[in-house]
Amino acid sequence: MLIDGHNRVVNYLRISVTERCNFRCQYCMPEKPFSWVPQENLLSYEDMFEFIKVSIDEGITKIRITGGEPLLRQGLDSFVKMISDYNSDVDLAITTNGFLLEETAQKLKDAGLKRLNISLDSLKPEVAHHIAQKDILEKVLKGIQKAHDVGLGIKINCVPLEGINDGELLDILEFCKEKGYEVRFIEYMQNAHANVKSGLDSAQIQSIVGSKYKFTKGERVGASPSQDYFLEDGYKFGIIEPHLDDFCSDCNRIRLTAEGFLIPCLYFEDAMSIRDAIKAKDIKKASEILKDVLKNKPEKNKWAEDEGSNRAFYETGG
Ligand code: SAM
Repeated sequence: MLIDGHNRVVNYLRISVTERCNFRCQYCMPEKPFSWVPQENLLSYEDMFEFIKVSIDEGITKIRITGGEPLLRQGLDSFVKMISDYNSDVDLAITTNGFLLEETAQKLKDAGLKRLNISLDSLKPEVAHHIAQKDILEKVLKGIQKAHDVGLGIKINCVPLEGINDGELLDILEFCKEKGYEVRFIEYMQNAHANVKSGLDSAQIQSIVGSKYKFTKGERVGASPSQDYFLEDGYKFGIIEPHLDDFCSDCNRIRLTAEGFLIPCLYFEDAMSIRDAIKAKDIKKASEILKDVLKNKPEKNKWAEDEGSNRAFYETGG
């Protein structure tokens, strides 16, 4: 079992397989980054898998593949298969913008993937275009449908932004409800790379949902960052509330970037590289680095004090 320096059990690894993305979402990556990490600096899938085996053996039970846009990286299905063949009990999921799902969903399902979180910030083509700075909606909706048809579990992520998509939250909720997908509204997190003034906080999101539906607050489940809410008919939606004080108290996650940095907290600059250890196949060293990173995992993010990391969400996978 992996325990951090504040006695929290860490069992969740998020892996960013690429920082590149085919969207330029205003809240994440409005411009092309000044320079991409050169392709040759990325860990190969085989390298990442070496680390994943160590992590699973040490106590990781949940893995999320993210990015950038993970479906941009060639051969993602073979990476999924490596992990699910190693341990099919690991809760393995991908977070994606859905653009390439129509072509890839079946292969991912065949490789052993069970679940996807898909970003969907608007159901209006022009608003979706405005946010992602690309004509995306039709292809994303087809991708979501394809993922559904091949039997992948689906949750939808939506970042409510003031004056942009805040008039559509009920439509998005109802779309998801009808299709049987849980929607999670994510409070917009300010960061140096974004080009958005403000997002809606949890109270504002609840007020919009409450203007049409009665709902109740669910129990906090495990270390999930999402607070569940239930409509009267039982439909569950979530709000990810990083602005709340207790967000960090049961944090169970660490992150691995495509270059091989292990990051203990999304809003924390410090990170350690496992790259050399993995390239040298020094598993003992990689395991030591993992434990050092956990020892140094901060108790709370420094967000409120505005001392957070300048690292972009597309590097860490959000
Ligand atoms: N490309 C994939 C996608 O679009 O879902 C995965 C990467 S994206 C960085 C992962 C998640 O981070 C998405 O759900 C996205 O909405 C969220 N995200 C990115 N920037 C954010 C921000 N500034 N505030 C809140 N959520 C953000």
